[in-house]
Parts: sequence; structure tokens; C-alpha cells
Amino acid sequence: MISKIGIIGNGVAATTAIREIRSKDSKVRIDVFTDERHPYYPRPSLIDLVANRRTIKETIRYDLDWYEKNNVNLRLSTPVFQIDTETKTVISTSKDYAGYDSLLLAVGCRPFVPPFEGLHKNNVHVIRTLDDALDIRDAVKGAGREIVVGGGILGIELAAAMKEVGGEPIVVSNDNRLLPMQLDDQGSTVLTKHLEKKGISVLFGFECRSISGDDDAEGIVSAQNDSISGDLVVIATGVRSNTIIAKNSGIKYNKAINVDEHMQTSTKGIFAAGDCMEYNGQWHGIIPWATSTARIAAQNMLDFGSSKFKGITPSNQLQVAGIDLTSIGIIHPDSPDYETLVSVDLDNGKYFKAVLKDNILVGSISLGSRKVAMKLRSLIMKGEDIADIKQSLFDE
Ligand SMILES: Cc1cc2nc3c(=O)[nH]c(=O)nc-3n(C[C@H](O)[C@H](O)[C@H](O)COP(=O)(O)OP(=O)(O)OC[C@H]3O[C@@H](n4cnc5c(N)ncnc54)[C@H](O)[C@@H]3O)c2cc1C
Repeated sequence: MISKIGIIGNGVAATTAIREIRSKDSKVRIDVFTDERHPYYPRPSLIDLVANRRTIKETIRYDLDWYEKNNVNLRLSTPVFQIDTETKTVISTSKDYAGYDSLLLAVGCRPFVPPFEGLHKNNVHVIRTLDDALDIRDAVKGAGREIVVGGGILGIELAAAMKEVGGEPIVVSNDNRLLPMQLDDQGSTVLTKHLEKKGISVLFGFECRSISGDDDAEGIVSAQNDSISGDLVVIATGVRSNTIIAKNSGIKYNKAINVDEHMQTSTKGIFAAGDCMEYNGQWHGIIPWATSTARIAAQNMLDFGSSKFKGITPSNQLQVAGIDLTSIGIIHPDSPDYETLVSVDLDNGKYFKAVLKDNILVGSISLGSRKVAMKLRSLIMKGEDIADIKQSLFDE
């Protein structure tokens, strides 16, 4: 009989687990620990906060009343360091919490920051939390030029938000294209042109090594000693799962915390969900992964063995700086057996690519049209011969 559940973390995985638990059990005690000072907010809203499209109040999805209504004991600003798995005690900065029946690790990720020199300088930021977004929003007000290091989705979205509030952002990447996971070279060229039209500069092949300036950041310097000046530097070069609690508590982890199909870690009664865990070598840092793993974890925490995780099909439908981008299936074919059809419209920020094998659509990229994206997606799902409609494949 489960009467006491502990949850470490308070992001989308944790709150999804709370909702799942409460939909099945109104009585079990739930204690939540988070190192943040705010109650739950969705991280995608942080971009809106930087762009001044939302206030802090509008960013917070569940206020303290929500926790009270759901009978959840929320401990804000309470980092957890370790779990004593023998005595079932959570060791945190506040009074220790002992005797859980079931515990969920939903501790997410932290930004990955390469070891650049000068990271300690003023006006060098990362973006993960609401406080990070507030700091960046305040810093953009006084900056002449903002440098975003990283050409992934987060870096591009952040630069677009900075532009909206009057900034002069430049996105700097060590790669030769934007969004290497979702785009090919031509698609990246179309997106780059679209960003430049919006007043967002993009620089490729820049290997950032250090932050220049005395106390305050004044720019970045590359491995080849090239420099870019700017008064605000945001590093958006990826994330790493938080595994420190697992490490300190003898729970197995690789790049993320290892779980089985029930979302149970190597320690009985301790589960993990969201960005902090990996299952069968799979890991995704996206919300659908966090919510689906959290539901499975919650069900098994209440009734072990009641559900099994079957993986997810990651959604690759994105909004990048106001344009729709969808990439599905094989987008980088590596054999002559594939046929590739492409349509490029640089002026209107549109790019379509279809990859076919034996006249069957097996992959596509669609930039700038949701209609075409949906059409291509449906044709991929059907897996039918499309020889007759090849000519009109990209018609809207
Ligand atoms: C700006 C931004 C925009 C994004 N946009 C999208 C998007 O459009 N679509 C999408 O699918 N994904 C997006 N993501 C990724 C998405 O937000 C994450 O996949 C999701 O937040 C993962 O949820 P989680 O609950 O596993 O982890 P998190 O949201 O990271 O939550 C982890 C929680 O654990 C707490 N915690 C960590 N360590 C400790 C500790 N030792 N003690 C106590 N508490 C601790 C943290 O404070 C936090 O409350 C975005 C991310 C960012 C930063």
C-alpha cells in the first residue's frame, strides 16, 4: 500500500506525474522538492517572456493554489543532494524527508556550457529557468548587440525574441548550417535568409573559445583569433541530464538515469521521468517525452507493473522564428537508390524536399508551409506509389 510519494523536480514531468496520481488517488501524500523559487511554468513560455509577450504571472501555469487544491506539499528553493536508499530519506537543504514509499526523480537537464575562457564575466547567460529568462530580458534592454552562441532551435528562437524587443542579435555557430538535426544545407540557407530579413545575423564556422572583456563581456573570440563584439553573450550549446543525485545515491546512470519499461531505476521504489532519464538507449529533451514517461512512472508508482513504456515517435514539427518547419523520416539519403525532389523559394522563405524510394515517399523537409507539411506527412504515412503526383507534390 502506497501512502507517501516524494517527487524531486517540479517541471512538466513532475506536474504531469502529480496530475496522473491525483486522477487515480486523492489521498496519497505527495511531497515535491524543487531548487527553483517559482512554482510550475512551461519552459517554451520563457521565449515569450524574453520577447515581452507575457508577464511573469502569465508565464506561471500552476500557482500555489493549484498545489493546495491538489493537496501537494511543495517545497520551493529546496535543492536535493542525495537519497539514502536504505532509510528512504531525501537529503535536502531543508528538513530531511524520510520514509517515502515511492520516489520520482524528475530533475530534468541543465545547460551544457563548453569550457570557454571568461565565462564568469558579467552579462554571460544561459537559458533554462524563469530567472535566466528575466536576466536576459533585462540585459537586452541595455545591450548594443547580443551574441547567441549556438545555431539550434533554442538559440534561433531566443535571437528572434531579442529582435522583437529591439535587440540586434547575431547567432554564431561552429557548424556550417542551422538546425543540423532537422535541416539540410539548402533548407538552412533558406532559414538563414529568412532570419537575416528579420534583422537577425547568422555567422557559421565560428569556433568560440573565450569571452572577451574585463569585468563585463565585450564579445567573443574564436580559436582562429577572430572576434565579434557584443555586450550580452548567451550560450545555447545544448543540455545535459541532471544525474548528480543518482551518482550520490548509487542509482545507475549513463548519460542520463537508466530506467526499465516501468520507469523504475536500478533502485526498487525509485522512478525517473523526463529529460533526466534514458530508456533502452533512447533519450529526448522534449515535452512529449517528459509527459509520456511521467504518466507511465506515476501509474507504476501507485500500482507497480500496471503499465509499460513503448517509446514515442518524436514530433519534429517546429516553429522557428515564425515559420513552420517539419522534417520526417529519411532527409539525408546516402544511396543512389533514393530520388530527391527539391523546391527552393528564397524570397518567400520556403523550402521543400521529398525523398522517394521506388516512387514511395520516405522522408521530407517542409519549411514555410504547414499545408505542404501535412500533405507530405500523410503521403509518408500511407506509403503509396506517388509517381502520378510527383509534379504537383509541393503545390499548396
Ligand atoms: C527556453 C526553452 C524552450 C523550450 N521549448 C520547447 C518546445 O517548444 N517544445 C518542446 O518539446 N520542448 C521544449 N523545451 C524543452 C522542454 O522544456 C524540456 O524537455 C522539459 O522541460 C523537460 O521537462 P522535465 O520535467 O523533465 O525537466 P525540467 O523542466 O528541466 O524540470 C526539472 C525540475 O527539477 C528541478 N531540479 C533539478 N535538480 C534539482 C535538485 N537537485 N533538487 C531539487 N530540484 C531539482 C528543476 O528546478 C526543475 O524544477 C524547451 C526548453 C527551454 C529551456
